[in-house]
Amino acid sequence: MSKYETIIGLEIHLQLKTKSKMFCSCSNDGENQKPNTTVCPICLGHPGTLPVVNHEAIKLAVLLSSALGFRIYKKSKFDRKNYFYPDLPKGYQISQFDEPLASEGHLIIEHNDKKMRIGIERLHVEEDSAKNIHTKNETLVDFNRAGTPLAEIVTKPDFRDPGQAKIFAQELRLIARYLGVSDADMEKGHMRCDANISLRPQGDTKLYAKTEVKNINSFKSLEKALLYEVERQTQLWDKKQAPKITATRGWDDDKQITVEQRTKEGSADYRYFPEPDLPPLIIDKEILDFAKQHLPELPLAKQFRFRKEYGLNVEEARFLVNEKFWSGYFEAVMSELRTWLCRDEKIHPDSDEADKIWEEHKAKFARLTFTWLSNELFKLLGNYSDFHKTKISPENMAELIKLVYQKKINNPSAQSILAKMVKTGDDPSVLAEKMDIAQIDDAGTLEDMVMKIIMLHPEQAQQYRSGKVALLQFFLGQVMRESKGKANPQKIEEIIKNKLK
Ligand SMILES: [Zn+2]
Repeated sequence: MSKYETIIGLEIHLQLKTKSKMFCSCSNDGENQKPNTTVCPICLGHPGTLPVVNHEAIKLAVLLSSALGFRIYKKSKFDRKNYFYPDLPKGYQISQFDEPLASEGHLIIEHNDKKMRIGIERLHVEEDSAKNIHTKNETLVDFNRAGTPLAEIVTKPDFRDPGQAKIFAQELRLIARYLGVSDADMEKGHMRCDANISLRPQGDTKLYAKTEVKNINSFKSLEKALLYEVERQTQLWDKKQAPKITATRGWDDDKQITVEQRTKEGSADYRYFPEPDLPPLIIDKEILDFAKQHLPELPLAKQFRFRKEYGLNVEEARFLVNEKFWSGYFEAVMSELRTWLCRDEKIHPDSDEADKIWEEHKAKFARLTFTWLSNELFKLLGNYSDFHKTKISPENMAELIKLVYQKKINNPSAQSILAKMVKTGDDPSVLAEKMDIAQIDDAGTLEDMVMKIIMLHPEQAQQYRSGKVALLQFFLGQVMRESKGKANPQKIEEIIKNKLK
């Protein structure tokens, strides 16, 4: 164990997915438009203009706050954070200082198979700055981003290891996507993450001067930058040169090191004062009701439920839950299978009997469905996150799984049906008929085929009878070819063994 304990906190900015900007009616789609086209006098900070709060942004921020268990204040206020920088045309940013929208939230994460509760100090709303684009000789400014609504989330210093910080950030991204409040794509800057890190001798309870690490643009960099800082600060402590003042360092992704930037301004340097152009922010019942109605089952809870309810393992459950669409799709297929099972057994789907019979079959169907989604469908789609490409309704997917389960078609046939379904979205039973690949199950027909093959290969039959049982595969292969892949392999295997006794 290290002599030192690592203390990490995160500051995360999430761009909220609204139609318009935080304080004006400009489109919030500036990243996909030509530079400096989604701008107006308000977001360019012209004198005499007045900001108006975007109601939609507040709704999304409140929804996110509810999901993270925050205490949401009925009344909060906006403040001006003053600093001078080319990407800030007004010379100040409208933010929230001493009265944020929400405080005392938390998020449960799973790290090394253990649940951990991470406290979150506050969540406030603010506007994004413009974007500086540095070229070789000059710096260009794109004001499209100026005024994009942001939610800033500041955690408590509850992380003891860089891996925990990474998992938290990933879980937060997933939640933001589940809620639809942000695309939270770090590479595109929808989610930006600064990390505060300090060390202290084991057993010590004091917090020492922290180092803020900036310019982190991926989850991988977040973990790497923090691991680098643990190492660097350990050496400083060992040399009795532990940091005395708060410092800011930037992560250099090419060199894989952090580099000293500047000494951080204290909040006094920003000369915060209340925004005189905006009234207090009031959260009314309508917004709170909206959040209540739109709060979905959160990813980690869903993951635990999938494990418990369907007998999936951690990786399988995580795989499905990591895309909201696929977890919903999986459950829709399962629900179709339940309906079919009840119909097949002639029991009412709402009866206790239905629950009982479903309980007996659920795990089997879950396994089959998961396998067909993860091994076959995603392979055909090319990319697991390209869900919009699937034309296959859960109903048709369930139908295919049912045909496999009933052994009406064998696996290779089901694969070729699925390949057609991906393109056309057609009903698998119709395709099976059209493609003439319904499995041959009839004992008489299969026996005739087996006998024909044995007659054609007397030598191999002789060798098999005198103990070369490995030839079973040869006969199986020949019969499958004879049947054009349609024979039921389990049945022909039995027949071959019988005939060659
Ligand atoms: Zn504007």
